[in-house]
Amino acid sequence: NNFQGLSDYEFKTQIDVAFMLMGYNGTTLYETTDSFKAAAELTMTQMGLLSFNRINSYRTHMMPISARDGEYAQSKAEIEAIDSALDNWGSDDVLSNFYYENKLIPDALHNPTAEQISVLQTLRQWLVENEKGAANWQDTDLGKEHYQWILEKVFRACSPAVRFMLDGLRMPAGFDVKEYRTIAIILSSDDSYNAGAAASSFNSWGGNHWNISNSDGIEYTHYQTFFFDDHSNISSGADPEKIKIANAKVDVHELIHTQGGGHDQDPSCISPYSVMGACDTGDFFTYPIYNRVYILGWLPDTAITTNPSLIQDSYNATDPTKKYLLKLGDFRYQELFNGSWYQYRVPSFAKTLESCNLSIGTFGDDGNSIDPLGTCGQLVVDQSCIVSSSFYDNELKMNMTMRDFQACEFIDVENDLSSELFAKFLSRLDGSAQDYSGAVDRQALVMEQTDDAARQALSN
Ligand SMILES: [Zn+2]
Repeated sequence: NNFQGLSDYEFKTQIDVAFMLMGYNGTTLYETTDSFKAAAELTMTQMGLLSFNRINSYRTHMMPISARDGEYAQSKAEIEAIDSALDNWGSDDVLSNFYYENKLIPDALHNPTAEQISVLQTLRQWLVENEKGAANWQDTDLGKEHYQWILEKVFRACSPAVRFMLDGLRMPAGFDVKEYRTIAIILSSDDSYNAGAAASSFNSWGGNHWNISNSDGIEYTHYQTFFFDDHSNISSGADPEKIKIANAKVDVHELIHTQGGGHDQDPSCISPYSVMGACDTGDFFTYPIYNRVYILGWLPDTAITTNPSLIQDSYNATDPTKKYLLKLGDFRYQELFNGSWYQYRVPSFAKTLESCNLSIGTFGDDGNSIDPLGTCGQLVVDQSCIVSSSFYDNELKMNMTMRDFQACEFIDVENDLSSELFAKFLSRLDGSAQDYSGAVDRQALVMEQTDDAARQALSN
C-alpha cells in the first residue's frame, strides 16, 4: 500500500553509533573502515556489556581527510575570542553567545585601553598570517610583554580548537543523521597534536556552537548528541594494545555522556572503579550499577536488593534480571566486580532538595525558562502545598512567576527512590524548558572505602 514506505521508515531500528573517521593535517590512522574494525569492536563490545545490550550496534563511515592541523584550529579559536573581546564580549543572548559569561566576570577584559586594543589587533593579524596558536607568539618581543594578560583576560574561556577542526564538516552523501542514536567523530593524524575528546549536541549554544551539516550543506541545529575523540598517539613507542584500550575507554566515556551519564567522584583515587571517573581503572571497563539503573535506565529496579547473598558479580554479566546492587542505606551501595566489592554513596537529590527548601523559585515567562514545578514540584508529597504568585518585572519587561515550596513536605528520596522517579527528570535532556534533568545531580556518586562489616551485617 501507499504507506509502506513511511511505515518502513518509522519502524526502522535506530543504529546506536555512527563512527565517522576523520583524519586531519593530511594524514589518518584509519585509512579504511576495516582498519578501524578492531577499535570499534572493542568499544561496542564493552558498551554492550555495560548497557546489558541496550547499546551495541554501529556503522562506520569514512570522511575526507582534512588539510587543517591543530595549530590552525587553535589560531581560529583565538581569533574568535579576540573578536568577541573587542566587541565587549558580543550579544546579550545568554542562550546563544558562548562568551556571554565574560561580560559578568571582572577578570575578563573590559573597556580595553588603546594599547590593549592595538596589541590584540597585532596578535590577531599574526594569527591570521601564521595559522598557529598564540602560544607560538609568546616568544616574540610583543608576546613576551603581553601574552600573559591576554591568556588571563581574553583566552580565559577560549572555545576548544576542535570546533574549528570540525568547522564546515559535511556528512557523506546518503548519510541520514536521524538513523543514529549518536554520532562519534573519530579524529586522527600522525602528528604530535591531540584534540582530546568531549561530548556535545548539535543544538548547543542555540545551534551556534558547531558548524556541521548534511551532505547538502544544511547545518544540523537540532538536539542530537555527538562526541569527538582524537585517537592520535600522544606517546610514541607505547604498546599498540594499550593504546587501543585507552582509546576505547575514552570512546565509552564519551558515549556514556551522550546517553546522559555524568562524572563519578573519587578525588583521592581511594577506590578506582568508574570509567566516568578520573582514576586509572587499568584494562577494565567498569561503570557503577547505580548509574546503570537510575541514570541510564539500562537495568531494571529489580537489580537492587538488600540481601547480600543474592548479589551477582557484574564482570561480563549479561542477564538483566539478576541482582547486582546491594543497598546499605544512607544513600550507600556496594557491588561485586571481578571478585572485589566496591562501595559508594550517591545523594542524587540532596542539592535539589536543599535549594527547594531554601529559596523561592522565580522564572521568566519567556518560554525558555524552567518552571520549578517540573523540578522541586515533582519531589513534593502533595502539590497543594505549593504557593504560586506572579508579577511584572519592569527591568526584564517580562511576566515572572514565583513558586514557593517552603510549606511542602518532600518525598523520602532514600526509600522512595525508583527508576520511575528518575524518569520524571531524565526523559528529556535537550536543554529545553521541559528538560528537568537539573534536578538530578548526575555527578553525585562518590567512591568510598568498602565497609565489609556493613555488608555482613545485612546477612545476619
Ligand atoms: Zn567526561
